[in-house]
Amino acid sequence: MSGGETIWTEDPPFPANAKRSVGDAQLRRNIRKATTAIRRRRAGLVSEMPDWQELRAAGAAIKDEVLLHLDRYLEQFEQAASGRGAQVHWARDAEEANAIVSSLVQQTGEREVIKSKSMTTEEIGLGGALAKHGIEAIETDLAELIVQLGHDRPSHIVVPAIHKNRAEIREIFLREMGDAPPDLSDDPHALAEASRRHLRRKFFEAKVAISGANFAVAETGSLLIAESEGNARMCLTLPQTLISVVGIEKLVPTFRDLEVFLQLLPRSSTGERMNPYNSLWTGVTPGDGPQQVHIVLLDNGRTNALRDRIGRQALRCIRCAACLNVCPVYERAGGHAYDATYPGPIGAILTPQLVGVEHASKLPFASSLCGYCYEVCPVKIDIPTVLVKLRHDSVRAKRHPAEDALFAAAGNAMSGRRRWSAALKLAPLLRLLRHGGPPPLSRWTGVRDLPDPPRQSFRDWWVTEHVQEQPRNRAGGKR
Ligand code: SF4
Repeated sequence: MSGGETIWTEDPPFPANAKRSVGDAQLRRNIRKATTAIRRRRAGLVSEMPDWQELRAAGAAIKDEVLLHLDRYLEQFEQAASGRGAQVHWARDAEEANAIVSSLVQQTGEREVIKSKSMTTEEIGLGGALAKHGIEAIETDLAELIVQLGHDRPSHIVVPAIHKNRAEIREIFLREMGDAPPDLSDDPHALAEASRRHLRRKFFEAKVAISGANFAVAETGSLLIAESEGNARMCLTLPQTLISVVGIEKLVPTFRDLEVFLQLLPRSSTGERMNPYNSLWTGVTPGDGPQQVHIVLLDNGRTNALRDRIGRQALRCIRCAACLNVCPVYERAGGHAYDATYPGPIGAILTPQLVGVEHASKLPFASSLCGYCYEVCPVKIDIPTVLVKLRHDSVRAKRHPAEDALFAAAGNAMSGRRRWSAALKLAPLLRLLRHGGPPPLSRWTGVRDLPDPPRQSFRDWWVTEHVQEQPRNRAGGKR
């Protein structure tokens, strides 16, 4: 799904995309360098926490409590936020959310809005939807700005431009950012300074901002954004109107629960003890900050995921991207290969549940099932187990008659000793498939080496060595 679309259209062709990106050595170098650095920082900071496993268990338990009583917590949040002057809107899907946000912006008469980094607004394709109404949304997160100026798509949840190195970013700035200094170098400080100057003007001019949120507190109606640059805080404080699009799974029951997540999130996401900026806001404060605060609570497939006993744990996700940073498949294929808002292991389990497994049937297979993602997940999502379950669902949703016939024949052959012995006699025929074979078998052998079947089966060997030997031995004994 491209960032500009509002609805899911096709089953992402992960194998073809991955094959292409694996051939891009520069891309692989960029991703490996970045993920290795984040992985090391995370490991160092986690090892200094003696109660890390207890924190993970607490994070998982808090999120499970929310999911179990989501209806109650949502109503509590709505009441608390409304009581503090925010207007709460409910959106069943991407189209409804986009319509609500577009209409709210149109009511202000503005044609330009600033936007803080938000995966939820990426998920619904908000930028494209606003553009259809003649409204330009300017990304203010540095990495999102790079992606936007490069007419590109994010490829990582926390570091959306992870696939670009600084030389490529310099080129984008010089080409697309009108006020970039002509002698701009690729020094990270120089690049950050150029974007700071570019964005500062936008911050002071903007009347409307759009944000997401990392957490929503049911008890107080507060929202929280954790970030590194401070750009989201500018969005949250300077404009007159603030519209926050929040997935319904972002709730935590009480303010105190943030204590757990504000330890888990920065260590898992950017490898920091705490995020440089944690911004909390609750409704409207007269004379201070936005005077119009809207919160759009988004479902968009989340209640479908909630129905699934095994799959619902994906809704615990706090979007830290630790699972992406350790995933051998993500490191080699890159985020664009998933062709979805959420790449990597979390994307492989979340996307099929949000859009329906029949529309993302390849993604659950985009994993080696090594289990490293489960090990690092701060809210203990058992990603491998959900992947296996979704693979099962995917096969059931997209049954192939030839595959069905093959497995029926295998089942039949294995159901009796004589039949199985007879089937083994056909094993040498497998040699014919070593270099391909008719579809759909060629799709399997095209990407895997089929081992040469042995000249003799174990059963035949056993009969030769033991059963046929016995009469000779007995005969020898009589002599
Ligand atoms: S699944 Fe776990 S590790 Fe992956 S992004 Fe979500 S919270 Fe982080």
